[in-house]
Amino acid sequence: MEGEAVTDRRSDCLFCKIVAGEVPADIVREGERTIAFRDINPQAPTHVLIIPRDHYPDMASAGAAGIGLLDEIAREAGEIARAEGIADSGYRMVFNTGPGAGQTIFHVHGHLLGGRGLEWPPG
Ligand code: 5GP
Ligand code: ZN
Repeated sequence: MEGEAVTDRRSDCLFCKIVAGEVPADIVREGERTIAFRDINPQAPTHVLIIPRDHYPDMASAGAAGIGLLDEIAREAGEIARAEGIADSGYRMVFNTGPGAGQTIFHVHGHLLGGRGLEWPPG
């Protein structure tokens, strides 16, 4: 089933505003259905957020739409990692999902983190 309201740009969503160009962002890569921009509060030398242009509240809803968006985000992550010079050293993709996991913006975004050693398990 085609997503309805879930794919609309939301006037109250910060990342929809970035997609629309209403809020400035340091954009590093644009795809047909995705954009990627630097996190305003970086937690690593490379900290890029990769989002779909359409609004899905979280990773699970974007995946459930069944239209390959998460695939595309993964592909974009690989390209950005290469461009940032961290593809060989390694990097991490994080989708905080739900408030208990630290999600604060309910427009799905993958955090691409790299350029330093990353601990496991995460905090
Ligand atoms: P979450 O906590 O939802 O997983 O991630 C939200 C991320 O968005 C945080 O890492 C936060 O620093 C980032 N962020 C919040 N507001 C802005 C903004 O206005 N611009 C950019 N580029 N990043 C933002
Ligand atoms: Zn949104």
